[in-house]
Amino acid sequence: MNDAVLDQAGQTDQPVITPIPLRELMPWIVFGGLLMLLALYFVGAEEGATSLIPGMYVHEFVHDGRHLLGFPCH
Ligand SMILES: [Zn+2]
Repeated sequence: MNDAVLDQAGQTDQPVITPIPLRELMPWIVFGGLLMLLALYFVGAEEGATSLIPGMYVHEFVHDGRHLLGFPCH
């Protein structure tokens, strides 16, 4: 059943939903996935021998997330 109400111009009052083609969406999905992997690296492995940034600043900054996700810490 179509519940759309037509106005005097014959148009509906509901927004038109246009699907986004997967071909246009894929680069953004890959980019978002890489950002997520980078975030996962900093939360899970940025410490000691695998540390990219010297010092404990990044480790302390993501420390709560590290414990929340169950990564080994201290
Ligand atoms: Zn800890």
